[in-house]
Amino acid sequence: MAAYIDSVPLSGIIRVRDLMFTVKDPFRLDQGDVSFDAPDSVKAAMARALAENRTHYVQTNGLPRLRELIATKLREKNRLPIADPEEVLVTAGGIHGLFIVCQALLEPGDEVLVPDPEWPPTAGHVLLAHGVPVACPLYESRGWRYDLDELESRITPKTRAMSVNEPNNPTGGWLPRSDIERLASIGIERNLWVVSDEAYEDVVFEGEHVSIGSLPGMYERTIPLHTFSKSYAMTGLRLGYVAIKNPALRDRAKKVLFYSASNISSVVQHGGIGALEGPQDCIDAFRTELRARLDFFYQSIGELGDGIFSGQPPAGAFYAFVRIGRAALDFTPSESTSWQMGEYLITNGRIGCVPGVDFGAQGEGYIRFCFARDRKELTGALDSMRELFATRGQKVRSTKYEVRVTS
Ligand code: PMP
Repeated sequence: MAAYIDSVPLSGIIRVRDLMFTVKDPFRLDQGDVSFDAPDSVKAAMARALAENRTHYVQTNGLPRLRELIATKLREKNRLPIADPEEVLVTAGGIHGLFIVCQALLEPGDEVLVPDPEWPPTAGHVLLAHGVPVACPLYESRGWRYDLDELESRITPKTRAMSVNEPNNPTGGWLPRSDIERLASIGIERNLWVVSDEAYEDVVFEGEHVSIGSLPGMYERTIPLHTFSKSYAMTGLRLGYVAIKNPALRDRAKKVLFYSASNISSVVQHGGIGALEGPQDCIDAFRTELRARLDFFYQSIGELGDGIFSGQPPAGAFYAFVRIGRAALDFTPSESTSWQMGEYLITNGRIGCVPGVDFGAQGEGYIRFCFARDRKELTGALDSMRELFATRGQKVRSTKYEVRVTS
């Protein structure tokens, strides 16, 4: 029995998801899934692949045409100096890419700098690879950016890598080019690998997304991690990719890819070819609609009243990571305010959400809502919130479910 796995927390997102399946007519603002449909280019390519019986084993690292398209995209859009599509490995979504990278990169006891708050699988995968995640706080007061001197002070002789997730899930924080440049020089000076999680590269409302691997001397030490999930509304299809310049590391990653998946679904890879060969206008259309939903959501939570939920609208991604105000806390906070509030919203209001502390200690006192759901669902959730907070005075307290903190 691999007992060490007991020390790897199962993300609270999964616990919340299981909880949500027990709620009748829920508003699913808990999971980071867009309400959009995948573009026709994806669906047609998959239908064609099935009709042509492309249902057999394919190359471990991915279909050559898909890797070629990905290499071109990484070169042209992300400005990475990729020499050869051979550097690309196709994965079963971003989460699988992270698994492969952590397994291939880390020695037991290696430390990895991880943002706090951060999407929980980042630390989870470091732990699963016998590594040690080291939390580097992001501060709301700084627009959810780091104190980069503080980040640097967390580096020890055991630090092997740093994870950069920009725009960030859950905060929606975006890092300006100057921060990315400073992170790059820290990476070079301290000889660190950089795992660059760019899941939300296409969801930036203000400013431009800069891939850290595009800065001089960085691609050789950076592993860009991408997914089709958000940009092409393909969350359930499970398709992503990484690029690895270093041949030794790439060979190790290939082994992990082979032993964990043999190859990624052939039909889904054809869907990925369709996505990249087809029109790209869905990306802008999604972003425009997400921006409208962001405005609608923030305006509505503002109208709940002072001191319920507060925070600046995010610069990127599609989450409202809001501070739970005193007025919302009509109870004496016990071990975790964010879990108590999350549980209250789910069980009493059918409103899916994720307690902030699940993303790290720095997230305590916050709650995350995904505003990428359709207008009807958002409106339903906001109406339910209005009702809940109009009847303030009721104690917000655990009713059906035990409150536990996972991270
Ligand atoms: N990185 C971040 C920061 C994410 O939020 C997610 C999904 N929520 C992913 C990677 C991976 O997504 P997927 O596995 O669906 O590709």
